[in-house]
Amino acid sequence: MRLVVLGGGESGVGTAILGKEKGYDVFVSDFGKIKDKYKQVLTDNKIAWEEEQHTESKILNATVVMKSPGIPEKVAIVKKLVEKGIPVLSEIEFAAAFTKAITIGITGSNGKTTTTMLTYHLLKSAGLNVGLGGNIGKSFAWQVADDTFDSYVLELSSFQLDGIVNYKPHIAIITNISPDHLDRYDYKYENYIASKFRITMNQTEEDYLIYDADDEAITNWLQNNKTRAKLIPFSLTKTFEEGAFIKDNTMKVSINQEDFKMETEAIALEGKHNMKNAMAATSVAKLMQIRKATIRESLSNFQGVEHRLETVLKIQNVQYINDSKATNVNATFFALDSMNTPTVWIVGGVDKGNDYNELMSLVREKVKAIVCLGVDNKKIIDAFGDVVDVMIEVNNMSDAVKMAQRLTEKGDTVLLSPACASFDLFENYEDRGNQFKQAVQNL
Ligand code: ADP
Repeated sequence: MRLVVLGGGESGVGTAILGKEKGYDVFVSDFGKIKDKYKQVLTDNKIAWEEEQHTESKILNATVVMKSPGIPEKVAIVKKLVEKGIPVLSEIEFAAAFTKAITIGITGSNGKTTTTMLTYHLLKSAGLNVGLGGNIGKSFAWQVADDTFDSYVLELSSFQLDGIVNYKPHIAIITNISPDHLDRYDYKYENYIASKFRITMNQTEEDYLIYDADDEAITNWLQNNKTRAKLIPFSLTKTFEEGAFIKDNTMKVSINQEDFKMETEAIALEGKHNMKNAMAATSVAKLMQIRKATIRESLSNFQGVEHRLETVLKIQNVQYINDSKATNVNATFFALDSMNTPTVWIVGGVDKGNDYNELMSLVREKVKAIVCLGVDNKKIIDAFGDVVDVMIEVNNMSDAVKMAQRLTEKGDTVLLSPACASFDLFENYEDRGNQFKQAVQNL
């Protein structure tokens, strides 16, 4: 039995270790460079590897292949494997077969990490023996190799879901769906939506699907397709007998004829989008029969995740907020929506086909000035030039923050919520967020 792992990153190395432990002859191949720390792990575990190449003779003889999520299906080596009928799986599919632990799988276009971390926080605070994985932290496969947990909360990207065959989460969440990564889906939105819904394809009547009932793409899919899972909707506008909603500033989660209620003000996370994330995570907690007092306490002390609407500092009564993880319009929509003071908005970067029209009324209402931080800002200037009086272009974070400060008055907010990817001027969104925080500290 030969396991070939394509990609020597966190999920690849975790899979290699699990495969080795289960008796596979394992080979790791990466077309780029493998990080030193992973090379060391592979060598220590006597796992063969190569980098900066894919040697076909060592790959096309695989019994099964694990492809890391970052590698597109259209690359030559993957096409050849598929042509030969060799199964190409994702890490989640490969690893799930080796554990009896139940999994809570969380997908969606935005809010995955926040919802995953909050769900984990709720279950962990209740004393469950729970692991955290998927796109976050230590890979799921690696943890399955160590085999210590009874349940896992997993953040699942559409790429992870594309490579599943039998995997089913006991509880699935789809936070929301808006166009993203369409380059990987033949530029067809319906393909991307279908990919997200793979999360429920193997679920049975004993499983649950928690979803945003305000989301058009999700509700359309559910009207036209079937899932066997029990449906648990959440909404900001509708109410349900079974499901989660907000009414009169109170979050109500009703599951199995039991209600959990909490004033939204007592929930530490802020913004409408985070109320949705809180409803989804609380639904999981109710399904897992966590005590109300524990849920209440966990929701009131969960401070959110770095780079997601993260409050940085207040300087001269101006609040600075780091939302560097907002790499698409939908995420920025919720960031602007949650602003309740005049806002100087730092925006820009690499645009993945953005339609800024969706933001127009929020920008008109809340934004007093725009600082464009990107190599090419033309689209942003064209979109908002007539809506916002002050627009400035900069090409580094330090200038962006200094300019933003100059444009503020007491009581304003400076919001970094770029709606774009970061790699024109930064290494990644973390680098962008860290530079923002540093620049704010330096003011
Ligand atoms: P993901 O892991 O899906 O990228 P994150 O939790 O990292 O999601 O959040 C990404 C961005 O989306 C952040 O800017 C965050 O403020 C925003 N966001 C978080 N939850 C939601 C939601 N439910 N709907 C829309 N945007 C959200």
